[in-house]
Amino acid sequence: MSDYLQQEIKFLSGVGPKRAELLHKELGIYTFEDLLYYFPYKYIDRSKFYKINELNQNLPYIQLKGKIVGFESIGAGRKKRLVAFLSDGTGTIELLWFKGLSFIQKSLLLNTEYIVFGKPGYFSGKYNIIHPEVESALKAQNVISAKLQAHYNTTEKLKNSFLHSKAVSKLINNLLVVLKGKIKETLPDYLLKKYKLISLEEALFNIHFPQNTELQKKAVARLKFEELFYIQLNILQKRSYRIHKSKGYVFSKVGDSLNLFYEKNLSFELTDAQKRVLKEIRKDIGSGKQMNRLLQGDVGSGKTLVALMSMLIALDNGFQACIMAPTEILANQHLDTIKEFLDGLPVQVGLLTGSTKTAARKELHENLLNGNLQILIGTHALIEDTVQFKNLGIVVIDEQHRFGVSQRAKLWEKNSQPPHILVMTATPIPRTLAMTIYGDLDVSVIDELPPGRKPVQTIHLYDSKRLRMFGFLKQQIEQGRQIYIVYPLIKESEKMDYKDLEDGYESITRAFPPPKYAVSVVHGKMKPKEKDAAMNLFVKGQTHIMIATTVIEVGVNIPNASLMVIESAERFGLSQLHQLRGRVGRGADQSYCVLMTSFKLSNESRKRIDIMTKTTDGFEIAEADLKLRGPGDIEGTQQSGLAFDLKIANLGQDGQLIQYVRDIAESILDDDPDLSSPDNMMLARQLKRNANKKVDFSVIS
Ligand code: ADP
Ligand code: MG
Repeated sequence: MSDYLQQEIKFLSGVGPKRAELLHKELGIYTFEDLLYYFPYKYIDRSKFYKINELNQNLPYIQLKGKIVGFESIGAGRKKRLVAFLSDGTGTIELLWFKGLSFIQKSLLLNTEYIVFGKPGYFSGKYNIIHPEVESALKAQNVISAKLQAHYNTTEKLKNSFLHSKAVSKLINNLLVVLKGKIKETLPDYLLKKYKLISLEEALFNIHFPQNTELQKKAVARLKFEELFYIQLNILQKRSYRIHKSKGYVFSKVGDSLNLFYEKNLSFELTDAQKRVLKEIRKDIGSGKQMNRLLQGDVGSGKTLVALMSMLIALDNGFQACIMAPTEILANQHLDTIKEFLDGLPVQVGLLTGSTKTAARKELHENLLNGNLQILIGTHALIEDTVQFKNLGIVVIDEQHRFGVSQRAKLWEKNSQPPHILVMTATPIPRTLAMTIYGDLDVSVIDELPPGRKPVQTIHLYDSKRLRMFGFLKQQIEQGRQIYIVYPLIKESEKMDYKDLEDGYESITRAFPPPKYAVSVVHGKMKPKEKDAAMNLFVKGQTHIMIATTVIEVGVNIPNASLMVIESAERFGLSQLHQLRGRVGRGADQSYCVLMTSFKLSNESRKRIDIMTKTTDGFEIAEADLKLRGPGDIEGTQQSGLAFDLKIANLGQDGQLIQYVRDIAESILDDDPDLSSPDNMMLARQLKRNANKKVDFSVIS
């Protein structure tokens, strides 16, 4: 049957080469299988008929039954339209057409009963339906139609070629006729029984032509289960290979480095979340398997400290450690933080970045090779082949999404056996998404901030209130605080009225003139050296205001900066807004974030702004982001290499189901890691089939 499903769509009755071309281009449908898995986006209950006198202005698509009692042609030329008056005894409604007028008028008869389907509108005191679907009531009676009518997304181009939802439904009907009895089951019998799932054939039939609401629900449940289950099975099998087949250094003991640090230098209690995560890491690095762990935690949650303590354990076991940051500024910050943490302890720490001078570099290389240098902090420069360690045991990668997978892999080669890897990210990723994109990494979460932090207060202001905002800025500067002002663009764009950085710089320097005020500027078009210089002025407190584009998004830690102004905030996505806001609120003072927007806001933008003013919880924001935008746009998904080509499940909404099927997949693999038992052979085959399919897709696109 797989042959059947792989047949080109042009061979389906009702399609042909022209329609096939359109289906490729507009919907990505190439094969029978693609069409079979082109699922409806909604169902309309066609058993319910409204009365015309029940209509109100908020109704979705509805069905009416009535007779056409008259026609009228209005206007001339391009403005010509046809009105049919439909009456059902309770009232009259206008049916309106702008296209195909003569054809429609000829096909409709007066005083004959019709079923009319469409979305009612209201215009100058009357209800109307524009371009309704109309069918004869008599004919409808003779067709065995599903009670729930499936509706499919189509495009303008498809509609122009008469491939509207109903036509797609007809094609699928043709397909199901051809496939009858040929749809092979893809889940083993024991899973269907145990989890009360209907067969694939029944599910595919009822997803397109539901016999009743219950079966429609069962069809969705079965298909979602299958889709998510195979994703999890695939990820978990890969992970299980890493865990069972890879080898890792064993850090079995805790020694002086960690103990001294803990007793002498750590001036505060670890949070419960930090303790829990450390336990998880210690379990990994003591297991003899390579650790591959993602450490998620909101900005300021204390990830660096956890990383440092993990590195100290490596040192206690005779290994070296390194930490890689995405920019020089961040590498420098890590150096400062870590040196301060380790003050007075016999641990040698070094820094390697693009600006490290040749002589210093040479010395560093030597000390790495002879083992005198124990912790190396740096940027991409760490990856270079000339950087050789005596015995590298653990690699910490900060702000993960700036590094590619292949860059990470290069670090693995720096010892005879791959070192343990700890990836840290402050971009909160909803659990369900993490389980899916980073499913082969183990995930630890610090979901608690150190005590005593004051949440950032977030204020939304319309652009018209700019003077008030300036007044607030002046107050803050008088109190000795520093301020970020972030713009979405560098240069004015013609199309969009977003505040741009150059313009902003002018108005800010006018409102905050030198010598009383000093302003730094940082944007992505500057050379790294210039950027660092400007940044450093601000870091050292020599400028009051930092005007920037989103280049400052990641990691920078300037506790004295207590105010973040985001211009054209409607332009930013939620995770970006959250990252930007995370730049403030790092000191003891109350911090503020001001979101400036124009007065006109789209619904989506308003929702984003509302969420930002309502909560500072990164995970809550990430969940909301996932729901608003869908997983395709969430940071990390593009880099993950995992195509998010879900047909029916939704990572934003099906979190519980993902956990459910993951547990099932896990228990299957526990008993049968290679999926070689007769019961599970179907699973192995299906995994292989899915993997092959993905390759095919990439060849086509
Ligand atoms: P992250 O890297 O997760 O953004 P950091 O590790 O930079 O966070 O920590 C932010 C600040 O909080 C640092 O100044 C750090 O010393 C401090 N910190 C970390 N853990 C704790 C804790 N348990 N109690 C108090 N302060 C902490
Ligand atoms: Mg950090």
